[in-house]
Amino acid sequence: MTETLFEKIIKKDIPADIIYEDDISIVIKDINPQAPTHLLIIPKKVIPKLSDANQEDQAILGHLMLVAGKISRQLELDDTFRLIVNNGAKAGQSVFHLHLHLMSGRVLNWPPG
Ligand code: 5GP
Repeated sequence: MTETLFEKIIKKDIPADIIYEDDISIVIKDINPQAPTHLLIIPKKVIPKLSDANQEDQAILGHLMLVAGKISRQLELDDTFRLIVNNGAKAGQSVFHLHLHLMSGRVLNWPPG
């Protein structure tokens, strides 16, 4: 199977601005930020979409949420951020390796477009 962009970033085959890394996840700056802080929280396990995750991924999915909270505290985001998962091309997903967008630093309107 062809490697996704994020697998190449995880393997350090291509560079990224890495904010955080542990055994389960990596957090990088989005190359095309849509907010002053726009990070991608990425599991190291290849899960193409959230809807592909199953029971065995429960700990990974929980971990990603905890990392979001940890990063928000480390970056002092004033307890104000939004997490987004685009699931499927029609929902805006362009890289088919599960990731959470963490956005902060501006007013985030509701509902999102
Ligand atoms: P998606 O559209 O799949 O929800 O999100 C993919 C994100 O990856 C987009 O926000 C896009 O800007 C970001 N992205 C695409 N290519 C690169 C890259 O080479 N490096 C980084 N850091 N982000 C990328």
